[in-house]
Amino acid sequence: MSPGTVNTEGGRSMPGDAKAPVSKEPSMEMQKEMIAGHFRQLGRAGQEGRKVVYTFVPGNLTELMGAFGCLPVLPEINALQSAMRKKSAGYIATAEKAGHSEDVCTYVKCDIGMLKSGNTGPTGEPLPKPDLLLLSYTGCFTFMKWFELLKEEYDCPVTMLHVPYQGDGKITDEMVAYVVEQLRETVIPAFEKVTGRAFDEAELSRRLALSAMAEEDFVSVLESARARPSPIDAYFGGVYYIGPIFTSFRGTDEAIRYYAAVREEVAGRISRGEGPITPDGPMGEQKFRLVVEGPPNWTSFREFWKMFASEGAVFVASTYTKVGGLYDRGFRHDPEKPLETLARYCLGCYTNLSLPARIGLIEEYVKKYEADGFLIHSVKSCNSFSAGQLLMLRELESRTGLAGGFIESDLVDPRYFSAANVRNRIESYLQMIDQKRSHSKAAS
Ligand code: SF4
Repeated sequence: MSPGTVNTEGGRSMPGDAKAPVSKEPSMEMQKEMIAGHFRQLGRAGQEGRKVVYTFVPGNLTELMGAFGCLPVLPEINALQSAMRKKSAGYIATAEKAGHSEDVCTYVKCDIGMLKSGNTGPTGEPLPKPDLLLLSYTGCFTFMKWFELLKEEYDCPVTMLHVPYQGDGKITDEMVAYVVEQLRETVIPAFEKVTGRAFDEAELSRRLALSAMAEEDFVSVLESARARPSPIDAYFGGVYYIGPIFTSFRGTDEAIRYYAAVREEVAGRISRGEGPITPDGPMGEQKFRLVVEGPPNWTSFREFWKMFASEGAVFVASTYTKVGGLYDRGFRHDPEKPLETLARYCLGCYTNLSLPARIGLIEEYVKKYEADGFLIHSVKSCNSFSAGQLLMLRELESRTGLAGGFIESDLVDPRYFSAANVRNRIESYLQMIDQKRSHSKAAS
């Protein structure tokens, strides 16, 4: 084991590397403990009289929930955590036996299967029932169908925040006013009714100020990937870094401590000229700097990561780490305008962007991070993300002049992760980048 790496798996075997120790950056351990602590808190919610709100990651209203003393449950996080712990296949089978088609998003089936199997969360803690279903609608129609299913299971109120789609690639004042009005007239009264508390705007502002501080450090971590070698993997490492800020920790002192620690850890690697820690230890020579579109595969997460790291490929930017907010484009929660800032946050999530806006963002990343290529990981489950990705590929190739790669698998259904196929596609793609580089060197 190298300095700064931690074997956290206690010898547990991982796919393709039986009994190999797994290396992690120290802040990943801190993040893991924060998330586990949240699940423990959820397990105690009933005894402690805490109200529980089920909601989604994109467009989450974490600071508002916190201001009412509520605890969030995020079903997508349960699904991906279950997949990383090899529990999703069983849950999906349970949901399919109950009649959910093979074509339904596997996040939904994993969640429904978990619920039908006793609603024990991924860490083994029982999940409390919701006191409120808060449907924050940002770009994905499946969110609505998902919460219709949960409404059939739970006897609790549902409130919806309708976030208008950024069809023209911009947020207008009218869109902001529309969301603010819903917050004021519908969402806040629903929280007041469920919790029996009056809305405390000063408490919301206090939390938003804490969010902005953490967001500053978070962006600095993302932008550290401009360095050579990149001290982070902005996709595989990136999903650890987004964990607290995209889930239940925005607006807390814990988030501030965590992002300050990650920033310091990353600054240390830059000063030593080191790359990120991969599952096999510190990354060696970085031969390929890549930008990636689409979520990772969760059932074979480390195996997937190693397929790139072993070839010297590092991700310097990803769109997936923007589904819960595009902070690197300058957005910060503003405590001076509490409801307006929540509206702008929801409107700005990556899931709410049009196809041209997504293409523009990837093109910007390719230039900003001086990437050698870009890759699209298309997942079968997700119609919202996957529709139009081939068009994105062609358009980006023509705009950047770089080779694009395209691979397919799924989020949490292991039936759709074919390791041999994925590895072949990755190796061929990286060879293509190499060949292009040799040709342009020879021509110059
Ligand atoms: S379809 Fe995509 S965006 Fe919608 S819930 Fe499933 S994974 Fe999330």
